[in-house]
Amino acid sequence: MKTIVRLITATLFVAFAGSTLADVTIKAGPRKGRVLEVDGHHAEFFVEKDRTVSIAFLDKELKKNEPVAAQTVTATAEAPSGKQKLEFEKKGDLLVSKTPLPEGEHYTVVLQVKPTADAKPKNFRIKLDLTTCGGCSNPEYACTCDE
Ligand SMILES: [Zn+2]
Repeated sequence: MKTIVRLITATLFVAFAGSTLADVTIKAGPRKGRVLEVDGHHAEFFVEKDRTVSIAFLDKELKKNEPVAAQTVTATAEAPSGKQKLEFEKKGDLLVSKTPLPEGEHYTVVLQVKPTADAKPKNFRIKLDLTTCGGCSNPEYACTCDE
């Protein structure tokens, strides 16, 4: 009997630990960008080659882009040269920053995402590290390795 109780406890613990982990695990989208969850919606943060930031809104399976409608995004780059605000405009099914990120990396990008017209905006602080991770081959800002 004791063994059974222990087994059940262990199972519960694993289930609980699993769900806790899922909350902090970083997910990557189809473009290897960082997936940000807001109110059950998913936005993929991605830095383009020209250093503009593009945001895709993804379906539940994180595979297909959802059309850009009422979603809004603003970003503030906390660069060593000073804070710089980025504004976004719609390009196809993406929201793309009108200006590139300031030079350098390893600074914080604060992203504010509002998934619907009446949703409360949510802030994300993303450490800008553009190196490609050797483990998961995502950029470091979207690294999904368990470390
Ligand atoms: Zn990685």
